[in-house]
Amino acid sequence: MPQALLGMELSEIRQVLGPKQPEFRARQVYDALYHQQVRDLVQITALPCRLRQELASEHTVGLPAVEQRYESTDGARRYLLRLEDGRTVETVWMPEETRDTLCISSQVGCPVDCKFCMTALMGLERNLTAGEIVGQVLFVARDNGLLHQGARLNIVMMGMGEPLLNLPNVVKATRILVDAKGVGLSEKRITLSTAGIVPKIAKLGREPVRPKLAISLNASTEEARRELMPITRKYHLKELIEACGAYPLRVWEKLTFEYVLLKGVNDTDADARRVVKLLANLNAKMNLIALNPGPGIPFETPETERVRAFQAIIRRAMPCFIRKPRGLDIFAACGQLKRNSA
Ligand code: SAH
Repeated sequence: MPQALLGMELSEIRQVLGPKQPEFRARQVYDALYHQQVRDLVQITALPCRLRQELASEHTVGLPAVEQRYESTDGARRYLLRLEDGRTVETVWMPEETRDTLCISSQVGCPVDCKFCMTALMGLERNLTAGEIVGQVLFVARDNGLLHQGARLNIVMMGMGEPLLNLPNVVKATRILVDAKGVGLSEKRITLSTAGIVPKIAKLGREPVRPKLAISLNASTEEARRELMPITRKYHLKELIEACGAYPLRVWEKLTFEYVLLKGVNDTDADARRVVKLLANLNAKMNLIALNPGPGIPFETPETERVRAFQAIIRRAMPCFIRKPRGLDIFAACGQLKRNSA
């Protein structure tokens, strides 16, 4: 099978070209992949014809192909993208007035068994490569006419999968996405969300180039969190909060906590007050998400007033926003990515 170049950093491209090629050739290929964003290796016209053909005989760019595109009435688009091995993964495009947000996947399926999330019902199929993570961004940005308009683009690693269980590839993809000579996005506009893989939080903190960190909290006590997010049996809430406290935030960064509100389960005023206490010593903000329902999910969405009352309590302690669901009608909203045909 031909080898994908997407996902390779300069040193790897150098190796592919071999010692006989001058250094600048690797830079030309890197520039073609990530800056020009060619779709086919024959488009790298900076290379001599023979080298181009040689390269193309054993390699491809490695962009995904689109299998399905679902359009929401609110402007969001959900993409089912086909990878080299035929597996498919979902990416969601959410245009707004002053910016666009792209929600990308880090794994095919997900091994973390959260009881309110439809992706959990798939289980884990495999990790994505760095090239497949970058490929989602390049493909969907181009499909929406956003080539080289990185200043508008936010990336959230909140699609399928648990990014901290695929940390090396997620970090490598981030380096390529933020490299000024690569895709050139801002490091401040890429966010990774985790269910709370405690030891990997510290590991992420040691990376010189890394996305911002968001944590899916989703409960106010150890017991409740264990019920909703069985991963808590292994990584306790207390340790999670400690890891957050020790996390080396950059000067421009806050921790983001996400909290899915489930009617009558974790949405009371008492829950909100406990959350405030839990996070008291952290430099944090919170996003509330009222449950997006779906087949197989045994919870209900709270009323808007309940969500606002919960927000009002959190707001006394930190900035707190209610996340507006996007693409509900096409199964594109948080927790709905499961290859449903809308
Ligand atoms: N595995 C990572 C990345 C997925 S992010 C994580 O858990 O953070 C997806 C976000 O959507 C998480 O904050 C999750 O708690 C939330 N979510 C999952 N299912 C949902 C649902 N049905 N309705 C609303 N939000 C949901």
